[in-house]
Amino acid sequence: SAFRDSDKFIVSSPLPDIVLPQTRFIDYLWKESGSYKNLTAIESSETKKTYTYTQLQRNTSAFATSLLKKLKLNQGDVVAVMLPNCPEFPVVAFGTMQAGCILTTVNPLYKEADIGHQVAITEPKLFITAAECYDNVMKALKFAKSDAKIVLIDDQSSPIPSGTIRYSELAEKAEIDNGVLDKIEKSDDDVACIPFSSGTTGMPKGVEITYRNLIAGMVCMHMKENCFPQLATGLSNQDIVPCILPFIHIYGLVISLMGHLSKGCKLVTMSKFSANLFFDVLKNQDVSLLYIVPPVAILLGKHPDVQAEHFRNVRNIICGAAPLAASDVDAILEKSKKNIEFNQGFGATETTSLGTSTFKGSTNVDYSACGMPMVNFKLKFADPVTGEPIPIGEQGEMYMKSPTVMKGYHKNPAATKDTITEDGYFKTGDLGYYKPGVGLFITDRIKELIKVKGMQVAPAELESLLRSHPAVADAAVIGVPHEFYGETPKAFVIRKNGHDISEKELQAHVASKVAVYKQIEEVAFVDAIPKTASGKILRKDLKKMYA
Ligand code: AMP
Repeated sequence: SAFRDSDKFIVSSPLPDIVLPQTRFIDYLWKESGSYKNLTAIESSETKKTYTYTQLQRNTSAFATSLLKKLKLNQGDVVAVMLPNCPEFPVVAFGTMQAGCILTTVNPLYKEADIGHQVAITEPKLFITAAECYDNVMKALKFAKSDAKIVLIDDQSSPIPSGTIRYSELAEKAEIDNGVLDKIEKSDDDVACIPFSSGTTGMPKGVEITYRNLIAGMVCMHMKENCFPQLATGLSNQDIVPCILPFIHIYGLVISLMGHLSKGCKLVTMSKFSANLFFDVLKNQDVSLLYIVPPVAILLGKHPDVQAEHFRNVRNIICGAAPLAASDVDAILEKSKKNIEFNQGFGATETTSLGTSTFKGSTNVDYSACGMPMVNFKLKFADPVTGEPIPIGEQGEMYMKSPTVMKGYHKNPAATKDTITEDGYFKTGDLGYYKPGVGLFITDRIKELIKVKGMQVAPAELESLLRSHPAVADAAVIGVPHEFYGETPKAFVIRKNGHDISEKELQAHVASKVAVYKQIEEVAFVDAIPKTASGKILRKDLKKMYA
């Protein structure tokens, strides 16, 4: 096609391509850890539990050993981790990968239906979770007919339900067997983890991220030119990074955890977002780097309790995951009364969360732009209907190519084929254009996906839950603008003849089955849902009806 024959439609990174190092992921992750031994790697802002780098690395290897020797897992077995941000998270996540098992991350807010869907697709052998999630996990495992064993994060003293296994027995109190760990053979192209994303259409799908994807992602973060400049020097270890973005999402997993633990930073975890706790951390710790999503940017700019002192040590703020308004950035910069480098980044689960970012030292930054392609990244734009290439500067669907692009959707070759072009580009489902010298502008989302507070909500998932209600004949869900959350789900519902069901009852039906941020904000009862001849919901028409 025209794409393959011509470079004139391609926006390349301003940085020359670099060759990825040939190394195991776990070795790359801990490559510099010898210099950080007794420094703090991670600390909980709530329980104050802390691991030094030595402890973190030791427990990770001990956990990996336990998976293989005590629990008799095999390489390639899936381990589900459903935890809020906590110091144990990197131990179980990296330990799973070190053992050659595959990590799938499950949002701790999930309930029976959303956990069950993920379990059915990934078939985990082991489920690692916290006491507060236990009941939902049990319901979901039953629902998915899974006999996965359950590991609970414990404080070593309080009782745990019978039949579950204590984290401390597998990590803190367990031994390392280097003989076993050294034998793990993984190739670059093997799947390391399976986070979930709905992509452009349908139900959430498992995104296969390989070891090579993870190394390529860390290489991006460690380039001194792009938005993580402080990570390149190695001199700034023990920079304090508050972790409010969930580690179960690729942004938290790859950028917060891997990007910073590989460089000796001190991570401070928050298990759920609380404005007061977040402000306390900003006030009481010398925070230097902030990773946020647009609703947090709005909060920092608008909240009267946030003052210049909260930013006294902050050098960089990096925001991504959903559209950001330049005015929200201005409000923060004004408040902080100092020269903070504010970067907007664009990424997706399917690109291991990397993509574009503002580059260090860029002058005249347009805060509504998402920066330039990171190292080894290429972008191009296409007509969303015909797929024909579009000249640089004109608006089209954005495609991205890089060694961070996923292997494919887990056990879903059809969706993979629809999403990755023959020449290896990931179709983002986002509409935008590239202004040379300024950066990427995202103008609209053409895929079905709804983003609430930066988290994914798949309309198809809510529609199927609504349709499962005996009083519902048909349903369609779209995202509508929300002042703080970005968007919230709105449902259009056709009631079955003779059934009278209220908005509240339907909201409660959905709320009991899925995560709280997926709750339906509003239900409109209608007589018809606009559809194409082939039965596809015409979401554009619904959006117009709403507007
Ligand atoms: P996720 O896989 O959950 O990271 O979601 C990826 C999607 O989030 C992208 O395809 C975009 O729709 C959206 N997104 C991420 N970053 C931005 C950004 N800076 N501006 C606008 N949308 C974004």
